[in-house]
Amino acid sequence: MIKLALVAHDARKPEMAEFVKRYRSTLEKCEITATGTTGKIVEEVTGLKVKRVQSGPLGGDQQIGSLIACNNLDMVIFLRDPLTAQPHEPDITALLRLCDVHNIPLATNWNSAEILIEHIARLQG
Ligand code: PGA
Repeated sequence: MIKLALVAHDARKPEMAEFVKRYRSTLEKCEITATGTTGKIVEEVTGLKVKRVQSGPLGGDQQIGSLIACNNLDMVIFLRDPLTAQPHEPDITALLRLCDVHNIPLATNWNSAEILIEHIARLQG
């Protein structure tokens, strides 16, 4: 089972809600971890069970980074808002860095997320 992390900045949360609704049938066969608020939205929209870590500003991005460092995540969909300064920017940068260190596929916008999820669907057969 693919272990997938989902994170969305506030401006991207409506987009994330739309995304998980559209790809629910693929996501239901994944093990999903998400930052606090994103995870709550994903659970509400899809009814799927999500492992929720802290909200991003409270350390959630670091917790997801820790999963990557421990080889416990396969892919990350992180719908970022590049236009708004985030209070926890260092944590976000660290998470993106860890994805590159560990060669973890990372999508940061809708179109790349679609490519990733379509790949996951193919892997699931
Ligand atoms: P949130 O965290 O899902 O708890 O809002 C995301 C973030 O801002 O990194």
